[in-house]
Amino acid sequence: MRTLTRMMRRMLTPSLVAVLAGCSGGPATTAPPPSPEAMLPEAARSELTRLEASVARFAPTDLTADLSGLSAGDRTALRHLVQAAQVMDALFLEQVWAGNETRLYDLVRDDSTLGRARLHAFLINKGPWSRLDHNEPFLDGVPAKPPSANFYPADATREEIERWIAGLPSAEQTRATGFFTTIRRGPDGALASVPYSVEYQGTLALAAAHLRQAAAATGDPTLKTFLDARATAFTTNDYYDSDVKWMELTSTIEPTIGPYEVYEDEWFNYKAAFEAFITVKDQAESAQLQRFAGALQAIEDHLPIDPALRNPKLGAMAPIAVVNTVFSAGDGNRGVQTAAFNLPNDERVIREKGSKRVMLKNNQRAKFDTVLVPISRIALSAADQAQVDFEAFFTHILMHELMHGLGPHDIRVGGRATTVRQELKETYSAIEEAKADISGLFALQYLVDQGQLDRSFERTMYTTFLASAFRSIRFGINEAHGRGQAMQVNYLLDRGAFRVGPDGTFSVDAARVRDAVTALTREIMTLQAEGGYDRARAMIETLGVVRPEVKAVIDRLSGVPVDIEPRFVTAQALLLDR
Ligand code: ZN
Repeated sequence: MRTLTRMMRRMLTPSLVAVLAGCSGGPATTAPPPSPEAMLPEAARSELTRLEASVARFAPTDLTADLSGLSAGDRTALRHLVQAAQVMDALFLEQVWAGNETRLYDLVRDDSTLGRARLHAFLINKGPWSRLDHNEPFLDGVPAKPPSANFYPADATREEIERWIAGLPSAEQTRATGFFTTIRRGPDGALASVPYSVEYQGTLALAAAHLRQAAAATGDPTLKTFLDARATAFTTNDYYDSDVKWMELTSTIEPTIGPYEVYEDEWFNYKAAFEAFITVKDQAESAQLQRFAGALQAIEDHLPIDPALRNPKLGAMAPIAVVNTVFSAGDGNRGVQTAAFNLPNDERVIREKGSKRVMLKNNQRAKFDTVLVPISRIALSAADQAQVDFEAFFTHILMHELMHGLGPHDIRVGGRATTVRQELKETYSAIEEAKADISGLFALQYLVDQGQLDRSFERTMYTTFLASAFRSIRFGINEAHGRGQAMQVNYLLDRGAFRVGPDGTFSVDAARVRDAVTALTREIMTLQAEGGYDRARAMIETLGVVRPEVKAVIDRLSGVPVDIEPRFVTAQALLLDR
């Protein structure tokens, strides 16, 4: 009944999908209409100034991908995939807040300068709250961002949901806490789980139709199989089979589309938000990375820790895809852009098929050019600026991901079998992120020494890492990556591996950095192997801070964009080319 009402309402209002498709890559690319701002009332003028400053932190950047290797059929498939992804934008908006749809219609109709600025901020943040500013609302009359999003009834409390779930029989409990249901209240006030396939029925049918058309158009059997399976999942609400098919993709077109990450459900992290990354694989680059796969055991065998703590037999490595983004949407395109992801999240699929790492190379290139290089011009000495290099940036991000899998995980403390995660408790994330970073440098140096990486990395990787540290610390040290980076920078400063010049700029001491990186790798991994919670806390307290010399640099970065706002120029051209 509820669904029927919803669908009737859809017919009365313009389709959210169509409205969003009209906005895709929109307002940022068009110049604001010539409207005399001086004539705006004072309050409107100051709101406009605020919105423009807020949005300016995201630098509009063209994202392109090379489609020259695609057959005509695959181009058609890709076009349908972009259209299916636009549907994810609409679904995500609806998931974030029940009021988003109405707000968006109002904003789209307002073509004043101020209206355009509000719409622009709304589209970047996927709602009326600034994600870079602790979700502060930027539109009038908007409540605080609901931590329950639109996954639970607006009038429910967290305690009520918890109590209700605790009282359910086991099978219903699984449904209520599952990725793919919303919790709704019936007319009698009773709570119930509603499958996404019912809750979002009409909109998902639209997405499924595009997936099926894409499946019909492509000549690649693995892509066809995945797309048909995912279209079926949208109607059956069972994503398992299509997740497996996603792991088996070997096509050049590499689409990720559906409900995945659970961060938007700030109450319980149960509910998956819709997103899409429509990408094409860089086959040569992906193949090249397999070289790293072959080297991982050797790296583990040479870790600078007690040989007894090394893992004599690493498990199979997760597949890695290096891709270029053609279009991203929903949870995959809000606020700060994703540089890499690791999916699926379904433990069943991970146990049977593992998970896949996807590196979004053109996103990383754009972040490098737009954010990292300008940061390096402020943060680093003139000589060091010249050594900031994209290949070093990209390869270190990849090595960071791989190093999460190396080093101690399952450990013994006082004869008891346990894990690093359990023993380190709330210190785990910052320590583990620092481990992946610093041992990533250690591993790259090892590969240089073995002749598997070009010697030039030795000059570029440490300097690029230093510039990148400022980028992370700038996001704040309340978050694991930023805290971990602060720890490393301070440790390397204390060892003389990083130095601060009289003008406040930072540089790398090439003679010392290598040993300092090895020493920190040893210190962190040994602490992890011993489950040293107290030492981890002490380390975070003394090193996980923003020191004055670092703060002085961060303060000077205010004119540098925080991230990019992607303009999907390849997708736009593709949609016009019929
Ligand atoms: Zn990490």
